[in-house]
Amino acid sequence: MSTIISCQSAIYAFDKDNEPVKSVPVGEPITIQTYDCFTNQIQSPSDLTAINWDKINPATGPIFIEGATPGDILKVVINNLEIGDQGTMVTGEGIGVLGDQFTDFDVKIIPIKNNHAIFDEQMKIPLHKMIGVIGVAPEGDPIGCGTPGAHGGNLDTVLVKEGATLYFPVFQEGALFAAGDFHAAMGDGEVSGSGIEVSGEVTVTFDVIKGQKITYPFLENEEHISIITTAETLDKATKIAVNEMIDIIQPHTDLTLSHLTMLMSAVGQTQISQVVNPLVTARFSVPKSVFESYDITLFAD
Ligand code: CA
Ligand code: ZN
Repeated sequence: MSTIISCQSAIYAFDKDNEPVKSVPVGEPITIQTYDCFTNQIQSPSDLTAINWDKINPATGPIFIEGATPGDILKVVINNLEIGDQGTMVTGEGIGVLGDQFTDFDVKIIPIKNNHAIFDEQMKIPLHKMIGVIGVAPEGDPIGCGTPGAHGGNLDTVLVKEGATLYFPVFQEGALFAAGDFHAAMGDGEVSGSGIEVSGEVTVTFDVIKGQKITYPFLENEEHISIITTAETLDKATKIAVNEMIDIIQPHTDLTLSHLTMLMSAVGQTQISQVVNPLVTARFSVPKSVFESYDITLFAD
């Protein structure tokens, strides 16, 4: 039985001054309940006219992780991810890739049944449950939960799902972790500006890694280790991602910079996470076989 954090503990910015709702030791499973990204204000299309736009992109938390101090790495294992039975999608003027082609705002309610999101009679989308907003308090000024960055935040990255392990740089005492903005499904890019937005519940366990430093979030799953970077452009985010990945791998090998770059070019995947938030997010994924072949353990506890 894990400790449950209610979605009523909602923050709208990752902020070092947010009061923790709970202090937890490493290794203890915590269940975090979340609103959807509209704070559950849209239950039918007619609700759209009455919503409070200040209440967008809530994250539940923050949670103080005992023993996490600035310069550490916070390890977060996503043990289990459950979602509600109704999703919401939106697009409209100024939102998403086609935002310049709309003059108003559209909302679609999408029932979730039998492991599918029922888009319409013809199209039933297999669920791809994932977390859009996940992160820790940043180093300086507060960052709204709609914006991604080195602290995490609105990463909208499809890899952030059940079974994945995330690694965040710790900037503040206790890290001040929060999560929200679950999606029943989303494609790379999130082109309309929304995934299939849904409320839910995630169970995570934390660990703290001392003596190692990262500058952006990393993610590990069965196939890859990925770095998730955010910048003004995809070009810049990609460049940071590849540079940081090479920087973290190189001290573990005898490869020259040119040979390691060749290896990254041969097997690494540059991928788009999202192109619709304030700032865009990319990732660079390296297959586990690289770490196994050179006997590298990147994030040792
Ligand atoms: Ca999002
Ligand atoms: Zn979302």
